[in-house]
Amino acid sequence: MEIAAEKVVKIHYTLTNDDGQTLDSSREMDPLEYLHGAQNIIAGLENSLTGKTVGSKLNVTVDPNEGYGMRDEKLLMEIPREQFGELEVEKGMQFQSQVDGQMMIFTVLDSNETGVQVDGNHPLAGERLHFDVEVIAIREATADEIQHGHIHATGGCGCGDPDGGCHD
Ligand code: ZN
Repeated sequence: MEIAAEKVVKIHYTLTNDDGQTLDSSREMDPLEYLHGAQNIIAGLENSLTGKTVGSKLNVTVDPNEGYGMRDEKLLMEIPREQFGELEVEKGMQFQSQVDGQMMIFTVLDSNETGVQVDGNHPLAGERLHFDVEVIAIREATADEIQHGHIHATGGCGCGDPDGGCHD
């Protein structure tokens, strides 16, 4: 079976940056399982996996425009301290917030009594990514998975995505 849209694919991967530093790896964990053709993983990696088979090993270099985008200095912002209420704000803390209808992750850079400086760029924005990938398994997606646009682990959906139409 070849990797194509509507297949569920299991891969092991190690992600390194240009300096050869390991940023993330599935090797110590279970393989990553995802629905191909549903933009569950970054475009540059997904495209390279199309047509591959179980046992395929590949090295994929993904430029920022096919990865997590370029850094955008406009996403360095200051948020009034009072918007955080009683919440303790610490450097390095991350939180999610909706901006123009899109869920974004912000990292706290610094804070003082009046404001909190945050960075809305993805931590890997602007990085060229190197994936060392091995295809572990491929199966047909179920009708539910195709409809929801993501895989269902054993026992059902459990995706917790209120927009995913995953509720009976
Ligand atoms: Zn679902």
